[in-house]
Amino acid sequence: MKKIIDSMAIFLRPPPSLRGKISYAYVAVALLTLAVSIFAYWELRLLEDKLQLRERVAELFDTSLEIRRFERNFFLHGENTDYRENATYRAKMLDLLAQNQKDFTALAAERQVETLRGSLKEYQQLIDEYLAAGWPGDNRPTEQRKQLEPRIRAVGQDIVASCVTVVAAERKLVRSSLSSFRVLLFFSVVGVALFMVAFGQALSRRVVQPLRQIEESVNAIASGKRTALTMPGEDREIVSIVNACNQMLKELEVRQKHLLRSEKLSSMGTMVSGVAHELNNPLSNIWSSCQLLLEDKALATTEAQHELLRQIDEQSVRARNIVRSMLDFTSEREFHKEKLPLEPLVRQAMKFLKGEIPAETAINLGIPADLIVEADRHRLMQVLLNLIKNAVEAVGTEGKVVIIASRYDPDSASADDPGLAECRSKPAIDIRIRDNGPGIPAEILPRIFDPFFTTKDVGKGMGLGLFIAYKIVEDHGGCIAVNSDVGGGTTFVVRLPSSRSAQ
Ligand code: ADP
Repeated sequence: MKKIIDSMAIFLRPPPSLRGKISYAYVAVALLTLAVSIFAYWELRLLEDKLQLRERVAELFDTSLEIRRFERNFFLHGENTDYRENATYRAKMLDLLAQNQKDFTALAAERQVETLRGSLKEYQQLIDEYLAAGWPGDNRPTEQRKQLEPRIRAVGQDIVASCVTVVAAERKLVRSSLSSFRVLLFFSVVGVALFMVAFGQALSRRVVQPLRQIEESVNAIASGKRTALTMPGEDREIVSIVNACNQMLKELEVRQKHLLRSEKLSSMGTMVSGVAHELNNPLSNIWSSCQLLLEDKALATTEAQHELLRQIDEQSVRARNIVRSMLDFTSEREFHKEKLPLEPLVRQAMKFLKGEIPAETAINLGIPADLIVEADRHRLMQVLLNLIKNAVEAVGTEGKVVIIASRYDPDSASADDPGLAECRSKPAIDIRIRDNGPGIPAEILPRIFDPFFTTKDVGKGMGLGLFIAYKIVEDHGGCIAVNSDVGGGTTFVVRLPSSRSAQ
């Protein structure tokens, strides 16, 4: 039994795919419709049988009336034909009773059908006795005939009365069949409707729910709370969609890392030329100190030697620091926030860019010496490099770039740039990089943070600088905004959250 129930459960459980579930629903609805149609057809057949029975009952009743009619005529006129018609109808009634024995018994009680049969028999006997007592056409009816006539009429009435009972029973049966058919039809229609609603809801839950869960997962991914879609069910289509999306997310992540790396390489190019420039000075100082020590014997006094050695030492340390910072910058690192004095960081960025800043370009700094930011040193350096480089490239040879920084206090702040809207409520440090370049046209302004968007010549710009800067600032919980007037210059604002203690 358990095996049968288990195999039925397997059969009744919808298959694990959306297509399967929908086909399953179609089959279930088709089966249900078929069942209701068979039921209605079967009920109609029963009703049809009852209507045929009605015809036979009506025939029985008509036959009883005919028997009475010819009986009356027989008594009135004493015609032989009336007697024969009467006899014919009696035989017909017996036939009808014999042929429909089962149906008539089901309608009226068996006893009543038997009574009718008995009445017919008695009727027959009485008529036979009547005929034996002489032909009714005789002018002088015998005493016996006078006694028999009312008895025959009474039995005839009984026959009609019995038929009326059968007719009444048959009418009652048809009426009750019709009303039960109506009730059954009503309940089966209501039942089917309820079943369809319940089934439809269950199906839509099974189909729609996984899609809704996918939607929630996608929203969670979009808001950064999750990195992959969770599997909401075992339907084949859902499983393949979720797997495909997760695969796509993984590939996007790999590509993003790749992008970051290529941007880093491009920044490295900038940095290497700055570093080469920087290294040149200490190395040439070391070189000239060594030359002096080697060539001028007069300098070989202890004090002079000492001074030259001190210079060699100092320049070596400088060169080592430059190389170290380059190594620092190029290596892959964990995100690590620390408290950093901002001014030296900006100066270092400018050193890295030295080779790219034309001598005529003025860069003014306005950064309080005690301003501390909480940031990942290397990432913030990358932001500064990208923004300063863009500003320098925008102003050309004789332009001016101003880099200022200030504390931002939400309590005393006035409305500022819409791009900073999300960073209005907490204390922060604002870094502004302003240039008097040509500005950014309004139609491209919304696209400048897009990856690979560039207006620079091939080989000069990759269109990743602002995209990376945006991502890094976002990773710090900060905001980046731009104000630009065509012909009036551009200002980038980086707002980094900062605790009051850090400031
Ligand atoms: P790239 O510098 O490689 O072009 P970025 O993402 O750094 O890529 O910059 C995207 C675009 O934004 C630049 O091509 C330029 O059109 C515009 N842009 C960025 N900074 C400035 C600026 N200070 N002045 C004018 N346009 C700028």
